[in-house]
Amino acid sequence: MSVVEDLIAELGKVCAGLPDPRKGPRRDGDYSMADIGLSAFSLFFMGSPSFLAHQRALERGRGRSNCQTLFGMSAIPSDNYIRLMLDGVSPAAFDGLFMRAIEQAGPLRRFQCLGDRVLIALDGSEYFCSRKITCSQCSTRRRSDGGTEYFHGFLGASLVAPGHQQVLPLPPEFIAPQDGAEKQDCERNAAKRWLAQHGPAVAQLRPVYLGDDLFACQPIAAAIQQAGGNFVLTCKPSSHQTITEYLHGADLEEYRQIVCVRGTHTTTIYRWLSGVPLRGTADAIPVNWFSIEIRNAAGKRTYHNSFVTDLPVTGATIAELAACGRARWKIENETFNMLKTNGYNLEHNFGHGKQTLASIFLTLNLLAFACHTAASLAMLAWREAVAACGATYRFFENLRTITAYTVFADWPHLLRAITTADLRPP
Ligand SMILES: [Zn+2]
Repeated sequence: MSVVEDLIAELGKVCAGLPDPRKGPRRDGDYSMADIGLSAFSLFFMGSPSFLAHQRALERGRGRSNCQTLFGMSAIPSDNYIRLMLDGVSPAAFDGLFMRAIEQAGPLRRFQCLGDRVLIALDGSEYFCSRKITCSQCSTRRRSDGGTEYFHGFLGASLVAPGHQQVLPLPPEFIAPQDGAEKQDCERNAAKRWLAQHGPAVAQLRPVYLGDDLFACQPIAAAIQQAGGNFVLTCKPSSHQTITEYLHGADLEEYRQIVCVRGTHTTTIYRWLSGVPLRGTADAIPVNWFSIEIRNAAGKRTYHNSFVTDLPVTGATIAELAACGRARWKIENETFNMLKTNGYNLEHNFGHGKQTLASIFLTLNLLAFACHTAASLAMLAWREAVAACGATYRFFENLRTITAYTVFADWPHLLRAITTADLRPP
């Protein structure tokens, strides 16, 4: 069984176990929870809001569809029925599948750095905003014109690594009204919940957590260490008074690297200071501060950033630590922008629901992304099909187009058809 088939089968089992809101005994012809969950997932996996409509047409014309052959479904519910039945399901039901996708991706060598560590980037993002549509999970904010805006945010976590574009998403933690909380929820609280909830499950990967300046604070640093991790967090001088005072007048260690590419010299200057308190209290966590500055041949500064870490900083480790800290942007670029622009329709309104529907769709969308990455890492047939199309977005264009008109026997048949432009069954 291929990675894609395994992950879809596992998702089917999870969906079959979702609480069924329907009262009374099931009748023949009732849609199963597995069919309902897999239908929603298939939209995101195929990156096509009209995938189910095409499959219904195939079923009418030919008596079967790719929903059966590729997704193992027995019948295709209507869009409205899918929305109705999934609204209220807990997004956490799908958490285990993200770890399954990581296991199925195979050895994580491509993600290992700093010895045998992995990097997990944490970052917040919004996936819904409206003046009119709202549900019980919406956060609210006042706009300057006096109106109220409803929005949804989540704390995303992804495995990232310097040197390549691949990312493996982990389960999201939603920024949403919490029971018994007086203040509105925020990114930092969501990060603490994420670490408490998922930290133990990923501790075996020996994670080093990456985050922006917002996370470079004592509570998050402590939560990361409690979860068995270490950190490299962006640290801006303007928001870290104690650290800035320590740096003032301190004798910084320095390491310079001059690289010559095609006759052009670039100088990278690393500076660091070890054993600085993260904040101005007696219980402050000691951290090691470092900065990276890149200058072009004319001596002009083209990049500058600074970080704090609880890993030892030396002349031997500084360059790799800085590369790891800089990999943080990949969660924004590769995960969030990918979800928003590459046919995943993250902000497209598939329906908002009254309870958890918006969060369920976001979770399935991220899960589809995780399955794509796992497939591309573990399946030669998948990589060959992508290579034959020339670019990932073309591969998905092909996937959408040919599954609208042809029923494929299984995933190997579909991938081979894309690779060889031959639709005949093997
Ligand atoms: Zn809402």
